[in-house]
Amino acid sequence: MIHPDKIGIEAKKKEDENFKFRSYLKGHADEDELDKQFARLHKELFADYDCSKCRNCCKMYKGSIPEEDIEKDAEYLGITKAQFIDFFLEKGEHGIGYQTKHKPCDFLQEDGSCKLGDCKPDNCKKYPYTDQPERLWSLLGMLDTITICPVAFEIFERLKKEYGFRRR
Ligand code: SF4
Ligand code: SF4
Repeated sequence: MIHPDKIGIEAKKKEDENFKFRSYLKGHADEDELDKQFARLHKELFADYDCSKCRNCCKMYKGSIPEEDIEKDAEYLGITKAQFIDFFLEKGEHGIGYQTKHKPCDFLQEDGSCKLGDCKPDNCKKYPYTDQPERLWSLLGMLDTITICPVAFEIFERLKKEYGFRRR
């Protein structure tokens, strides 16, 4: 598995190849079969991976906090809703929803855990979305994800082997 600090450089080297593989999958992969392959590799690779040693997903994005989570998040931290917004959040892009004020995410702690514990947003729990359905229709987003997440990068590399894809 690629070291989290090297993922940007390694993904850049494979940028063309990955784009071509994405086009190859669009033309050749069966939607349901691809979802099963992603889900299997996700399970296998995350079983042996300690995300607390990486946390690129919390370092390289601002945390995106859904409006409907704010009350429970504030309660979890023992502060008011207004304090929660004031201390940690700003309006999201185009004024939609909220995001943390800083990148790395303000809720990332020294030990790699999330200050929001189990209250962390669903989008964080699901990241990198490699076990979610409709992968065939999410491959463009996947090209971004593999520049951040070492496990997603490795899943893409394994898929290339399984499809017998050669750089062309
Ligand atoms: S989900 Fe991916 S980017 Fe996030 S901590 Fe785990 S391996 Fe790293
Ligand atoms: S809310 Fe927690 S899990 Fe989500 S990006 Fe911030 S630190 Fe990471």
